[in-house]
Amino acid sequence: MTHSTSHLTASERDDDHLHEECGIFGIFGHQDAAAHTALGLHALQHRGQEAAGIVSFDGEHFHSHRALGLVGDNFNSESMIRRLDGSRAVGHVRYSTSGETVLRNVQPLFADFEFGGLAIAHNGNLTNAYQVRRALVRQGCIFQSTSDTETIIHLIAISHYSTVVDRMIDAMRQLEGAYSLVALTQKKLIGLRDPLGVRPLVLGRLGDTHLLASETCAFDILGAKFIRDVEPGEIVVIDEDGVRSIKPFVKAPPRFCIFEYIYFARPDSVVEGKNVYAVRKCIGAELARESHVDADMVVPVPDSGVPAALGYAEQSGVPFELGIIRNHYVGRTFIEPTDNIRHLGVKLKHNANLAQLKGKRVVLVDDSIVRGTTSLKIVEMVRSAGAREVHMRVSSPPTAFSCFYGIDTPAQDELMASRFDIDGMARQIEVDTLAFLSLDGLYRAVGEARRNASAPQFCDACFSGDYPIPLTDRTEGPIPEQLSLLTEQD
Ligand code: SF4
Repeated sequence: MTHSTSHLTASERDDDHLHEECGIFGIFGHQDAAAHTALGLHALQHRGQEAAGIVSFDGEHFHSHRALGLVGDNFNSESMIRRLDGSRAVGHVRYSTSGETVLRNVQPLFADFEFGGLAIAHNGNLTNAYQVRRALVRQGCIFQSTSDTETIIHLIAISHYSTVVDRMIDAMRQLEGAYSLVALTQKKLIGLRDPLGVRPLVLGRLGDTHLLASETCAFDILGAKFIRDVEPGEIVVIDEDGVRSIKPFVKAPPRFCIFEYIYFARPDSVVEGKNVYAVRKCIGAELARESHVDADMVVPVPDSGVPAALGYAEQSGVPFELGIIRNHYVGRTFIEPTDNIRHLGVKLKHNANLAQLKGKRVVLVDDSIVRGTTSLKIVEMVRSAGAREVHMRVSSPPTAFSCFYGIDTPAQDELMASRFDIDGMARQIEVDTLAFLSLDGLYRAVGEARRNASAPQFCDACFSGDYPIPLTDRTEGPIPEQLSLLTEQD
C-alpha cells in the first residue's frame, strides 16, 4: 500500500461532516434580553457559524441586528447590545443551505402585519416550501428572500384568522417539513415544533423569565433551568400570564433526528431526556461489542469522535490515547496556504502524535463518514506517523442517503456509503479493517431498541432511506436555483 503525504486544511475536517443548519433562542421577561440571547446563541454556535441575528422588543419598538459571521464577532460591544433594547428577544445562528448565504436570508426575519410586528427564527427545512411559494407568488405575494421562513411569514399575512397564534397554526397546517421555530410578537414569545418533532426545541426558566432554545447548553451558559422539551406538534405561548400549551396537529408517533445524538448536539446538552455525552459513550460501547478488533490503542478523531472512543475503549479494554492532536487556534478565517506551502504537508488542524502511534495497532474512532475525503487524510496521517495497523470504527451506520430535513448533506452520489460497500469503502480510505455501528446497535445505544423497522421511533433516513415526512418539492420536479419572480415562468 502506498501512502502520500497528508494535507489537511483548516476547513476540510468540518466540511466532511453533515452540518446542522441552525440554532434558535428566545427569551421573555428579562431586562438584559439581548445580552442573554447573544450568550445563548454563543452556546449554540456549533449549530451554525455563517450568520447570526437578534430581534428584540422594548414594548414599543422592535430592534434588529443581523450579520454574516460568528456571534462573538457581531454581538461584542455594549453599545450594540444596548441598541437591542427590551425585555424580550429572539435570536438565530445559521449554517446556510436553504436559501443562499446573503444578508437578506439571515434570520430572525421580521415583518409588519395587521396585528403588529412579528420576528421569526426557524431551524429546519420545509419540504413543500417551493410548491407553496409558487402558489403564493401567483396570488401576488412578493418575496424578498429565498429562505423557507419567508413562506411562513406570507402564509401568516394572508391567513383569515384573527389572532397571531391561530394564523400561525393556519400557516403551519399548510406546510410540511422538519422544523422548530421561535417567534416574537408585541405581546408574546411563541415556540413551535413540527408534528413529528424531528428538530429539537427546549423550554427553560431563569427566575420569572422563560426561555426557548434548540439545546439545553444555551440554558447552562445563563445559569437557567431546563424545564422540558417542547413536544412534537406543540405550540408554547409565553406572555405576561405565563406559559400556555396548544397541540393543534393530529398526534403522530414522534421521529426525532437520531443524528443529533451522534454528532449535531453539544455533548453537554440533554436531548429528549438523555445526556448526549452519555449516549455517545454508549454508542462507542455498542460499536466495540459489535466489531471488536485486537489493537494496542483506541484513538479518537478529535473532537467529535472522543466520547464514542471513550465508550469503545472502556468496553473493549483497549487503552484510550490521544493519537491525533487538534490545533484549536485554527479559525475559519485562517488564510488557506498557497499550493507551495500546501505540498509541504501542512496540517493546520490536526497532527499525529508520533511518539504514541509508532509501531502500534490503532483503532481510529470517528462519528461518521460522509464523502470519505477527510477519513483518507486522517488515515494517511496516522500511517505516516508509523502506525502498524489502522482499523477504522465509525459510531454511526453508513450515511448512504441525503437529509432533506434541515441538515446540510452532499448529494447522494457524493456520499461514500452510497457508492461503495464496506469493503470498497475500506479500500478507498486505505484502512486494514472498517466497521460501522448497525442501525439496531444505534437504537440500542440510544436506549430504545428498534421496535419495528417499518415504524421506527426516530428519523434515521440518512441511514435507512426511510423518509418520515413527504419530500413534496423533490417529487414535484427540480427546484430552480434562482427563486425570484423574474424566473417564474408560469
Ligand atoms: Fe437527522 Fe438523518 Fe433524519 Fe436528517 S435524515 S433529520 S440527519 S436522522
